[in-house]
Amino acid sequence: MAATTLATEAPGLRGLTRMAPAAPMTIAPVTTTAAPVTTTPGAPARPRGIDLVRARAAVADLLEALGRDTTSEHLAETPRRVAGALAEMLTPRPFELTTFPNDEGYDELVLVRDVPFHSLCEHHLLPFHGVAHLAYLPGERIVGLSKLARALEHLSRDLQVQERLTQQVADLLQQRLRPRGVGVVLEAEHLCMSLRGVAVTGSRTVTSALRGTLREDPRSRAEFLALVGVGSTGRSYPS
Ligand SMILES: [Zn+2]
Repeated sequence: MAATTLATEAPGLRGLTRMAPAAPMTIAPVTTTAAPVTTTPGAPARPRGIDLVRARAAVADLLEALGRDTTSEHLAETPRRVAGALAEMLTPRPFELTTFPNDEGYDELVLVRDVPFHSLCEHHLLPFHGVAHLAYLPGERIVGLSKLARALEHLSRDLQVQERLTQQVADLLQQRLRPRGVGVVLEAEHLCMSLRGVAVTGSRTVTSALRGTLREDPRSRAEFLALVGVGSTGRSYPS
């Protein structure tokens, strides 16, 4: 079930495949706490909660350790702003994974391409950002399309690594929607790579997680990867 990682170029923007929903039904909220749903074995423990007072003091300490004058007018409010920004980026918004009966028996791939996302790299506390391609093969239920993006956004608001995030999105959709298959591809630029270290600007890391038929059936997998543009650039995705 490992995600595959490939460094590659960014493809162009593309569109959206969708279908009309029938009568709505709502599955229980994914979470209403300040911690994301964790569905991948080996993922870090859920955060204990955010202590804004300590976070502000820690940012002030960090600035002083970096030789900055925290009494200057420009920096005076920076600890509060940084702590607030981090708290916002690390607090997932609750959402409900709304599904509908698949009355028409739609059994082809449903794919939402080029969903923008951002998250925080847990190794450097720097953002990584890019686009996601989220697909599933419907079973008895279909899902409101915006919910695919919301599932990703929900899990992105955490200290993450791209590989784990990719798997968590796939597992969440697989567990909640019970489709015949799930495909998730994330393409992201990591600021810890482009602003420091090797300072490679513009390179993107691609990860994929396939479940069910999209993992096991070569034709379904090939169709999915072709639709997200993988085949057109000559990239290959080992399973
Ligand atoms: Zn990093």
